Amino acid sequence: MHYQAPRDLLNQKIIMVTGASDGIGKEAALTYARHGAQLILLGRSESKLKQVAQEISQQGGQPATLFAFDLLTATPEEYQTLAEKIAHLTDRLDGLLHSAGLLGEIAPIAEQDPIQWQQVMQVNVNAGFMLTQALLPLLLKASSPSLIFSSSSVGRKGRRGWGAYSVSKFATEGLMQVLADEYQGSHLRINCINPGGTRTSMRASAFPDENSALLKTPADIMPTYLYVMGNDSRHESGVSFDAQPGRVAGPAQ
Ligand code: NDP
Repeated sequence: MHYQAPRDLLNQKIIMVTGASDGIGKEAALTYARHGAQLILLGRSESKLKQVAQEISQQGGQPATLFAFDLLTATPEEYQTLAEKIAHLTDRLDGLLHSAGLLGEIAPIAEQDPIQWQQVMQVNVNAGFMLTQALLPLLLKASSPSLIFSSSSVGRKGRRGWGAYSVSKFATEGLMQVLADEYQGSHLRINCINPGGTRTSMRASAFPDENSALLKTPADIMPTYLYVMGNDSRHESGVSFDAQPGRVAGPAQ
């Protein structure tokens, strides 16, 4: 997407990013902060989140708040407690980017380990549902809130070997569509972004033999993440955006 975000696109906005400790989520947090947002960072590693918060302050951003929170093991009650803590910090949430994700096994369905299958569903689908549900009241208090889920090309067309991950991304697209229909006509917009093959550790686990130098970096795909988070997309809801339109899915070439 050739979107040129104004420097002040996210001024006055309070935005939460999950998976903010690494990969695309980390880059999105740094990018949103550079465009004026105040960040709430969620990830499972406190030390990695602290580094991201430090980078935000080094680049002149507003101080970020961080929550070390394990999306794999958290109970529904813990999501509510997290939302209460956030409600003590802010009266509204202008944006929520669900970037945390788990790849699981690349193996045929016949060989997928049921425990790993459940873990992928927990982090990629159930956590997105529970966190969204807990934070909806704060999102609805913002004037033009944006809720973003992370999809994948294998969440639109099944591909052999992608097992739980593929199925979880279909469910993510479904969650986005159901929510978008429920909030149609309201001020809350709900969309997905499919980043397309991007140079992160998840990608390296999925395609260990590819030449990663041929992949876009998280920084390269930020125009889409800015567009969907900022007010220029306020009339778009129920859309699954491609951060790399036209890219053919599969190994980099
Ligand atoms: P990374 O593996 O680089 O980062 C994943 C992030 O999720 C990390 O911050 C990780 O934390 C966090 N996370 C994982 N498990 C948990 C958990 N149990 N609790 C809290 N946080 C957790 O992935 P990417 O940045 O590549 O992917 C971001 C999103 O984009 C994902 O949803 C992915 O499915 C999707 N995507 C990525 C593509 C790509 O090519 N990179 C292509 C298509 C979709 P920690 O730092 O502790 O590991």
